[in-house]
Parts: sequence; C-alpha cells; structure tokens
Amino acid sequence: MRKKQNKGPVPRILIIGGGAGGLELATRLGKTLGRKDKAQITLIDAHPTHIWKPLLHEVAAGTMDVNDDELDYLAQANACYFRFVLGRMDGLDRTAKRVTLAPTLNAAGEEVIPACAYPYDVLVIAVGSVCNDFGVPGVAQHCIFLDTTDEAQLFHRRLLEAYMRAHATGGAKQAGQLDVAIVGGGATGIELSAQLHQATRLLAAYGLDNVQPSDIKIHLIEASPRLLPDLPPRLSESTVKQLRALDVQLHLGERVVEARPDGVLTHTGKFIPAELKVWAAGV
Ligand SMILES: Cc1cc2nc3c(=O)[nH]c(=O)nc-3n(C[C@H](O)[C@H](O)[C@H](O)COP(=O)(O)OP(=O)(O)OC[C@H]3O[C@@H](n4cnc5c(N)ncnc54)[C@H](O)[C@@H]3O)c2cc1C
Repeated sequence: MRKKQNKGPVPRILIIGGGAGGLELATRLGKTLGRKDKAQITLIDAHPTHIWKPLLHEVAAGTMDVNDDELDYLAQANACYFRFVLGRMDGLDRTAKRVTLAPTLNAAGEEVIPACAYPYDVLVIAVGSVCNDFGVPGVAQHCIFLDTTDEAQLFHRRLLEAYMRAHATGGAKQAGQLDVAIVGGGATGIELSAQLHQATRLLAAYGLDNVQPSDIKIHLIEASPRLLPDLPPRLSESTVKQLRALDVQLHLGERVVEARPDGVLTHTGKFIPAELKVWAAGV
C-alpha cells in the first residue's frame, strides 16, 4: 500500500457512483490530493467493476466481451491513491454528514456486507441516470433498457436464445420471431442497429445456419421525421443511407404508444412485430 500516514486530520471526500463522472474525479483527486496525503478520497459504487456506458450496445450485440473491457475499482483505487468501497447508497443525513449503505447481497441473496454508514466532509453524488419510459404502456414490462451491464447482457442472452430456438426448429416459424425493434433513433439506437447487423452475420458464420441473416429484421423506430434529430440534417441523411445499406428497417415519424409481448404499436396504428424490443428513446 503506497499511502502515507496522515500527519493530522485531512478532509474526507466521499464520491458516490464510479461512472464516467465519479471514476474520473476519484482518479484525479487521488493522483493529486490523495497522493500527497492532503485528503482522503473514497469512492463508493454499487458494483465492483466499471464499464463505460457508451459501449453497452456492443455488449448487447455480443461484439464486445465485458470481461475484456471492464475496469476493476479496487485495482484502480490501489493504483491511484483512493479507497474503494462496494455498496449501494440508500440514505443521506446531511446534518450528521453521513451516508448510509444498504446491505450488499450475493447472487443467492445472502448478505455479504452488512448495512453501514460513511462520514464525509465533502460529498459528491454522481449516480447517473436511468432511461425514461415516459409512462408508455407495456414498455417497462416488455422492453429491455440499456442502462446497465446486466441489462445489456440480458438482451444478448435473449438474442442468442431466440437464435438457438429458431436454429433447432429449422428456422423462424412466425412473424417477428427473430426480429428486433429498437425504439429511439438517437446514437444508442443507431449504434445498436449497426452492431446487430454485424452480430447476426457472425452467428450464421458460426454454424447457426438454419437461420439466415435475411431472416432477421432490425427495425429502428423514431418519433421525429429524421434520425439524430438533435444533430445537423446532413448527419441524419448520411446515417439513413448507411443504415439502409445494412438493410435496417427505418420507421421515421412513428411514435411508439404501446409495447406488447409480440411487438410495438405506433401512433399511426402501425404494428411492428418483434420478439425482442429495446427502449432507447428515453432521456
Ligand atoms: C447505451 C448508452 C450509450 C451512450 N452513448 C454515449 C455516447 O456515445 N456519448 C456520450 O457522451 N454519452 C453516451 N451515453 C451517456 C453517458 O454514458 C452518460 O452521460 C454518462 O455515463 C453519465 O455519467 P455519470 O457519471 O453521471 O453516470 P454513470 O456513468 O451512469 O455512472 C453512475 C454510477 O453510479 C453507480 N450508482 C448508481 N446508483 C448508486 C447508488 N445508490 N449507490 C452507489 N452507486 C450507485 C452506478 O453503478 C454507476 O457506476 C450513453 C449512455 C448509454 C446508456
């Protein structure tokens, strides 16, 4: 351990959430203040490892292995002069300057770390956000979100299961059985569409040849009349061109009003059958 002994009390800086913001902050503060023993930096996260969220669509498509790209918080902490604590914050007492952590359970539901409290002098909360479903009926039940590694891996498992089933039974038997509906034509939806195109070709090449890539339709559904509505129109146009070349089915100006087990319904009454549905439309 490279930490020096404190000469006197130093400020305790507590960072909750080791995502894009919190991890960078802990690393920089560790390398400056922590290294010189001018502050005690502690990072708390609900997970033991970090993966950069903009890569989650690659995890979902199966073109990236999480284990190759995740960063271990303990290793980073040891190298960068901060402490890491595993736990999910579930309370804050601003008067006593203390956060509380819920008990940490293992996969079997057994308690690994009991509930505890951490005092601070300076507190930074960087817990990120989750995708908004805007209360659209059926979205929470039938769509997969891509907010966490677990959700991205769940999508990938479902994709493989759908493929295996279709391959074992001699091909897709009903409309939408292998189709994927991606709701939201922003960066996440577009990148996922392109990665899925690549992934479906790989699966066929690996011998699941009762299913041809052409049996799978990838639908990208966007409420605005153009993709990437927040970016200049020339970018939308060139993206449309490239996605069409990959045979991604584009549904522009179609707002999803309901998600069902077998597909999604848009405000114009169009029903898009798809066993797998991804919600990438929330802010
Ligand atoms: C699929 C996808 C693609 C994206 N693509 C891009 C892109 O191309 N470009 C771009 O700029 N942005 C992109 N983003 C957005 C970008 O990832 C976020 O803006 C960024 O991650 C936000 O950083 P953050 O530190 O605020 O939160 P996050 O990175 O979300 O980190 C939050 C951390 O807090 C932890 N946490 C949450 N609650 C608790 C709790 N109660 N206790 C302890 N820990 C907790 C979580 O485990 C997590 O590690 C994308 C997001 C997604 C989901």
